[in-house]
Formats: sequence, structure tokens, C-alpha cells
Amino acid sequence: MIIVVSKSASEKELKNLRDFLLNKGVQLHESDGISKRIIGIIGDKHNLDKDAIIAFPGVEKVIPIMEAYKLASRKFHPANTIVDVKGVKIGDTEPVQMAGPCSVESEEQIWSIAEELSKKGTHILRGGIFKPRSSPYSFQGIGKVGLSWIKEAGAHYNLPVISEVMEIKQIDIMYDYIDIFQVGARNMQNFRLLEALGKTDKPIMLKRGISAKLSEFLMSAEYILSNGNEKVILCERGIRTFVEYTRNTLDINVIPMVKNVSHLPIIVDPSHATGRTDLIVPITLAGLVAGADGFIVEIHPKPQEALSDGAQQLNFAQFDSMMNEYNMIKDSITMLRKSNQSKIEQDVSDSL
Ligand code: PEP
Ligand code: MN
Repeated sequence: MIIVVSKSASEKELKNLRDFLLNKGVQLHESDGISKRIIGIIGDKHNLDKDAIIAFPGVEKVIPIMEAYKLASRKFHPANTIVDVKGVKIGDTEPVQMAGPCSVESEEQIWSIAEELSKKGTHILRGGIFKPRSSPYSFQGIGKVGLSWIKEAGAHYNLPVISEVMEIKQIDIMYDYIDIFQVGARNMQNFRLLEALGKTDKPIMLKRGISAKLSEFLMSAEYILSNGNEKVILCERGIRTFVEYTRNTLDINVIPMVKNVSHLPIIVDPSHATGRTDLIVPITLAGLVAGADGFIVEIHPKPQEALSDGAQQLNFAQFDSMMNEYNMIKDSITMLRKSNQSKIEQDVSDSL
């Protein structure tokens, strides 16, 4: 349930309302919309009488939220969430660029990639340290030793670092080395892991499960949000379909759909969505035009020698050409984002 309160309500009126609600044992999540204040209610509402709430001065409406997700819903929080990672703003008007190897393989490899990103002005360095592989016989990641390599390379070139966390015990191991915890597609519904990440103060990038519905994706985000961590970034990385010419199918629809129903930023991952270097550029650009808040792409100095996902990693020349194409439309995308963002926020505000 959300309570729409007029912005002209006085502090005293708001306090009376809050005290009344808190006495009923529910939790409050407040957010400022363009013209209204929203008080979202979480918890057992059977003691709450809608008419009693409406009677408070300043209360305009009480609206039930039908969706199972609440904190992830745009009705709870009409303005876009912007996640700030050491000054890089994910969800703001400029799309965020993340790149790096599928797996960190050596100190030399990650340093050469970080240097390449820094030359291109890429914002965030990715690199898997603990790898979720479909086969137990495949390379499982370099492990702990790679954490200091990626941290130092990132710090040297002023690039925040994102890496995947696969289990609860890795949270403490990784905490001092990375800036964003990535939750992989295979762990999207590892609810105990999501709860534990919800208790940390670092941004979490949650990748969509291979066959997850939008509602399931947002409920997984809700596990993180409801444990107190509001810095959630979604990532569309393709879903399983009957299509056999690509590794997965990028669900382009989900990008504007997420924008309609949620305030959380969403990143497009063309590498895992396609599994093929020749499709990375068009799919990245399509994702951005559809409204993605940025991209995450795999690059490697020698993809043919990569220990994982060689077929989808761009070499430096391919990355350079991708960035040239992106730069051709970057200003138009930024303009489009500005106009779409204010439209969506205004529409939600009007509908309340
Ligand atoms: C990855 O980004 O390294 C990865 C394993 O992706 P996903 O979880 O989307 O398969
Ligand atoms: Mn990969």
C-alpha cells in the first residue's frame, strides 16, 4: 500500500501520520515524487483502516499495490534510483560503460585491460574471480589471488571494480577488493545470498536468471532491498529461448518494461546475451536505445587464448571499433534518456 501525501502537509501533520502508522507495527519507506510525497507501507496491514488514514490532514489517497514487489516498484519510488559508485552514477543521464575479461587470468592480463579501458574513458572494470561454470571440468576462476590484482589495476587507473560473488562466505573475502558485487544469472534465486548482500552497503548488480520472469527478477531485487540495501542495479543478459544461433536471446522488451514498473537502473550485457563477437555492437546499441542505463561487455587481449567465454570476448581492436560506433550516437542517446526519464517520472506522478 502507498499513501500519497500533499507536499503542503506540515511536518507536524506528517509526524502524526507516521506515529499512527508505526504504532500499527508496519515499516515506512518515504520518497519524494515530483509533486507529491509517497509513504510506502511494508508489513502486516490487517490493523490498518484505510478510512482512518484518509482522515489525516494532507493525505490525498491510499493506493493498494497489487504487485508482489513493493520496494522495487516505481509506485513506491517514482524517481529513478541513481547508484553512485565512487563518483560513477549508474541510472543518471549518461549511460555507464563497464568492460573487462570474463575471467581474471593473470596480473598482466588484468593490468593490460585496465590500461585499455582508461584510454577509452570506460567507467568500470569487470572481471570474474570466482566463476560459475556449467561444467565442473572447466576453469573455475583464479580465486582469491586475483582479488588484489584487479583491485590494484582498478585503483591505478581510477576504475571501480565489479566481480561476481557466488556464495555467502565470499562476501567478506571480496568486500575490501571490489566496488560492486555481481550476482550471476545462476544465483538470481539464491535467496540466502541475496539476503546477505542486502545487509551490506555495497552496490549489487543482479543478473536476470536464464528463465526468470520479470516478476521473479524484481522479487529477487526485493530480497536485497528489503534487507536494507537500496543500491541495486539490474542486468539483462539474455534468456533461454528456442533460438540456436546465439547463446541466449536478449529480451529487449524487458528494458523499457523495467523502466515502466521499477525505479532501478538496468544494464545490458550483450556478451552473454549473444555469445558472439559479431553481434555485440548492434545489440549494445539496441539496448541503449531501448533505455538501458549502460552496458557491460567482455574484452580480452587475446580472446582465442581465454580460459572462459573466448567466443564472445572482443579483442582491443574490436573494442575500439565498438566505442567508435557508440560515440557516434552517444549524444543522441543522452538526449533521448533525458526526455524519456522525465516523461516516465511525470506519468507515474500523474497516475498517483
Ligand atoms: C559473467 O558475467 O561473468 C557471467 C557468468 O554471466 P551470467 O551470470 O550472466 O551467465
Ligand atoms: Mn563470461
